[in-house]
Amino acid sequence: VDSSRRDFFQKTTFAAATGLMIIQAGANAAGEASPQTQSQTPAKPHKMIKGLTILSIRQKDGAETLGVKTISGVIDVRSAVEGFKMSSPMTLDDLLQNGRAAELEALVAAATSSKDYRVDEGAITYGRLFQNPGKIVCVGLNYRRHAQEIGMQPPRVPPLFNKYNNALAPHRCTIPVPDKAVSTKLDYETELLIVMGKRAWNVSEADALNYVAGYCTAQDFSARDLQLALPGGQWMIGKTLDNFAPIGPYFVSADLIPNPNNLKIETRVNGGLRQSSNTSDFIFNCQQMISYISRHFPLEAGDIIFTGTPEGVIQGKPKDQQVWLKAGDQIESSIERLGSLTFSLA
Ligand code: MG
Repeated sequence: VDSSRRDFFQKTTFAAATGLMIIQAGANAAGEASPQTQSQTPAKPHKMIKGLTILSIRQKDGAETLGVKTISGVIDVRSAVEGFKMSSPMTLDDLLQNGRAAELEALVAAATSSKDYRVDEGAITYGRLFQNPGKIVCVGLNYRRHAQEIGMQPPRVPPLFNKYNNALAPHRCTIPVPDKAVSTKLDYETELLIVMGKRAWNVSEADALNYVAGYCTAQDFSARDLQLALPGGQWMIGKTLDNFAPIGPYFVSADLIPNPNNLKIETRVNGGLRQSSNTSDFIFNCQQMISYISRHFPLEAGDIIFTGTPEGVIQGKPKDQQVWLKAGDQIESSIERLGSLTFSLA
């Protein structure tokens, strides 16, 4: 080992040791003095977004920026920012993670008094509502009748798994069918998506919904052969292929959804009704899911939670009636008050 390499190793060892000390100090603070760690949350509490239905516009230059749906049309946030020379978050990630609701609300107030900066929603190419959330947490087996159809006992606690950001996809996306060597058993799962609005760490069920910014219609698209290949399952890999998490068309702020635990939820494939249920069939309701997760790790503003799917999935049918999704299929996921998400396979 020559001297420069030795020097490099010494420096990196030092850096690694320093990093370790920082990690240990953090663990000590979290373990022994959690109020102190709590105080590290942003000094100004995140203002929650209120009264807004938000979508994402894929602009001609490829940028994915916010639109706000109003009774007088969709406000194009980027063009309004340029026109009014105001500041505003351009993405839901920025809005939620950095607590910038007040800026967007001021922009919307200014734009509402004008006829300009509108786009025809029918002509929009939708962008992703979320591009870089800190976490995508998924709850499995969370509807009573779905647990029954696949022959599982209702779980005692919410079973958790995850997707990664590569899976995020917009309303009207096309999911490329994976190579046959990867998967041949594609299935739909329409799900209510919870969107966190501020840091939730060890919150009670009674308080949990106060941390929610809003809700979306979403798909926990699934490759069953990957998910269930190993004894005990291999859930994550079957859930996070590219575009396996379409979300949209809207983010609806939580104040507009009186009870997330009582929403009609449906799936259609090529027009045929496949899932038809209600979130009232949840095994763990929204506040129970949030509280449970937050007892184990903090949920941050902008994190999203898939809440499980009701009965009617292909996996739930007798084996000789399982006809897996294929290229050309059109899928529609609908949730009351949140709108219909559509996408296709190719
Ligand atoms: Mg699911």
